[in-house]
Amino acid sequence: MSHLQVAIVGSGPSGLYVADALSRKLADAHIDLIDRLPTPLGLLRGGVAPDHQATKTIARQFERVLGKERVRFLGNVAVGRDVSYSELKSIYDVVVICIGAMVDRRMGIPGEDLAGVYGSGASVAWYNGLPDARDLDPQLDAGSVAVVGNGNVALDVVRLLGKTEDELANSDLCSHARLKFAAASLTDIWLIGRRGPLDAGFTPAELGELGELSRVAIILDGAQLPVQVPDDLPDERRRVVEKNLALLQNFAARGEQAGKSIRLHFLFNAAPVAILGETRANRMKLERTRVENGRSSMTGETFEITAGTVISAIGYRSSPFPGLPFDDQHGIVGNQLGRVEPGVYTAGWCKRGPNGVIPANRTDSLAVAELIIGDFSLRANRDKAGSKELDRLLVERGVHVVDFAGWQKINAAEIARGASQARPREKFTRMEELLAAAAAS
Ligand SMILES: Cc1cc2nc3c(=O)[nH]c(=O)nc-3n(C[C@H](O)[C@H](O)[C@H](O)COP(=O)(O)OP(=O)(O)OC[C@H]3O[C@@H](n4cnc5c(N)ncnc54)[C@H](O)[C@@H]3O)c2cc1C
Repeated sequence: MSHLQVAIVGSGPSGLYVADALSRKLADAHIDLIDRLPTPLGLLRGGVAPDHQATKTIARQFERVLGKERVRFLGNVAVGRDVSYSELKSIYDVVVICIGAMVDRRMGIPGEDLAGVYGSGASVAWYNGLPDARDLDPQLDAGSVAVVGNGNVALDVVRLLGKTEDELANSDLCSHARLKFAAASLTDIWLIGRRGPLDAGFTPAELGELGELSRVAIILDGAQLPVQVPDDLPDERRRVVEKNLALLQNFAARGEQAGKSIRLHFLFNAAPVAILGETRANRMKLERTRVENGRSSMTGETFEITAGTVISAIGYRSSPFPGLPFDDQHGIVGNQLGRVEPGVYTAGWCKRGPNGVIPANRTDSLAVAELIIGDFSLRANRDKAGSKELDRLLVERGVHVVDFAGWQKINAAEIARGASQARPREKFTRMEELLAAAAAS
């Protein structure tokens, strides 16, 4: 029987978990992991906060997958640009779509297109050094920033803005972002949630970190907090909410916080209704909300805050390529429990939406691998050309592919650049730099 030719599009955690499972369970599978970037690891490299280095140690596990004999990494190959989805389907027996979800959802309010307004997807990509976001250069010169959203991404953004240069010393925050943050001279950060503290998506560890920032005073009106958590929450959620509430009550009880240069204001039950300004954002209009029976509704009571920069962290959509079945309402790849169309599967954030930490993708990817194994392990008619045909097309089109050895060179060079500044890594942030590092002898 010939080899099963598998293409996985996206080398983030989900794609890597699928590759790992298939390579373990299908001894005859050849797996091509295709990524539009010259670097693998998806949001582990481009999303996870640069000051959360412990989270990034999982990269070692993924490097082992990338180094497997029957797994190839093809970086700097974008599906939809360098090779089409229909070509992949005709070349490979199995195609697995793991393209993540990093297009910012819009707030849908007037003023959203003013200068100074950014999505967190773009902002995170900028501070984490993704080449496409390198020139975003967000305006942080107005003193006050509003961060909209009550998930961990919003907390990441607030924390990085709030940390001092010393507190960021052990991070791999890119130099361009470090310089920008250092020059920002912020006085106020607003953390805005449309719903109440019990509905917030953030987790206690991340929330607690905000209370430890040396230059940040927390301003939280305790009247916004419920006295206790309702009984009817499921146990796991209840534990999280109770810890969050205890932290928030502690924040609210803080008295005068002298000597702190930044005020962090927690605003719950506040829905942004407009961003105001001539060409650049300078204020935000909000409306009080109330949550009743799990539903949030507007109260008609409005107020304004000063904010020269607005960063929304309210969720993401996937970015489909032509021909890919897409569920536009949910912003995900159209699928039925991981099946997209015959021979095509999907896993991770693009399958189920932008929720869940890295290990949560494992379960999803394993389930999809099992589907593939069930569908293909006994099938004898494997007549697809696979890798050879993809290589031919990419050579014909002059695509500069970065393989695993190329990524290892980028990785080593970045770590060496970081070591010279006593930091874990200094990333290459321009495409030319990445390609040159991959090609270095
Ligand atoms: C800001 C932020 C912080 C986070 N922090 C944490 C954290 O601290 N801890 C934690 O456990 N989880 C964290 N997460 C969640 C975690 O990053 C996700 O669970 C995980 O990355 C999802 O994996 P994925 O493979 O589905 O998508 P991704 O990681 O997004 O991978 C998708 C891959 O597909 C590639 N791709 C996209 N389009 C194409 C195309 N057309 N052609 C080829 N390749 C393509 C991309 O380049 C990317 O490499 C964070 C997420 C965000 C957004």
